[in-house]
Amino acid sequence: MIIVLKDNAAPAAVQAFCRELQSMGLTINDSVGSDTHILGLIGDTKSVSESWVLANPVVKTCRRVSEPYKKANRKFHPDDTVVEVGGHKIGGGAFAVMAGPCSVESAEQITLVARRVQAAGASILRGGAFKPRTSPYSFQGLRAEGLDLLAAARAATGQPIVTELMNSEHIPLFLQRGVDMIQIGARNMQNFELLKAVGRTQTPVLLKRGLANTLEELVMSAEYIMAEGNPNVVLCERGIRTFEPSMRNTLDLAAVPMLKSMTHLPVVVDPSHAAGIAFMVPALAKAAVAVGADGLMIEVHNDPARAKSDGAQSLTPDQFDELMGVLRPELEFFGKKLN
Ligand code: PEP
Ligand code: MN
Repeated sequence: MIIVLKDNAAPAAVQAFCRELQSMGLTINDSVGSDTHILGLIGDTKSVSESWVLANPVVKTCRRVSEPYKKANRKFHPDDTVVEVGGHKIGGGAFAVMAGPCSVESAEQITLVARRVQAAGASILRGGAFKPRTSPYSFQGLRAEGLDLLAAARAATGQPIVTELMNSEHIPLFLQRGVDMIQIGARNMQNFELLKAVGRTQTPVLLKRGLANTLEELVMSAEYIMAEGNPNVVLCERGIRTFEPSMRNTLDLAAVPMLKSMTHLPVVVDPSHAAGIAFMVPALAKAAVAVGADGLMIEVHNDPARAKSDGAQSLTPDQFDELMGVLRPELEFFGKKLN
């Protein structure tokens, strides 16, 4: 249930009302927005009668929320959430580009790509250290050494880093290396213990949609993280499995406006994993901006033909530079601020 408070509600009376609700075993999600103050009730609200709520003088309106997601629900928090990653904002009109190689391969590779994507306008450096690969015989990532190389690239450029976490035992390692944003990959979107573990940190989380998951399932996974106390969640549409074999996945662009109506969380698009083919990435990136995405994640490699993973979908630094040149005026047209 959400309760919208009157604009002139006395703070002491609101506090007394909140205490009464808490004594009924409910948790309150208090959201003071730009033009509304909303109390979102979490728990079993069946016994809370609407007429009893409406009788309280601080209450303007109330309504039941049928969706299973609460903290992530836009009804609980009408304003856009803005997530900050190393001083760069995502959401609420602020647009962030995360770019870098699929895998961190060497010090030379990651620092070169970091400098090039930064010069082109990306604010966050991506790079996988622990890689989820279909085959156990494929390159598995440089693991802890990869995190060290990312940290060194950040020290050299000042760019915050985002990298994938696959095992909650690695969280201390990620925090020691100062990972600025933890990526939960598509394959782990419903690894609920992992979601709870990142929910117990305050590090921003990039939550990628699973290969065959509905939007409600994606938002419920965000709810797992938020329910543990971490509100810094960014959702990522990265393509889903369909019957179409021409592309690696099918980019579900309609997910962007739908997710933004369901939740207040920022939504970014990863056209690289969606398409799986580099030539399609610029077109899909432009389309993502047009449907209202709050950011992009794009794979960039200095030598795609020799990449240890996902070379076919990686842009060269020159191609990325060119794409950013096209995105800048498009972002301006849509009133988004690249930061
Ligand atoms: C990645 O970002 O390199 C990756 C493995 O992504 P996804 O989880 O979307 O497949
Ligand atoms: Mn990849």
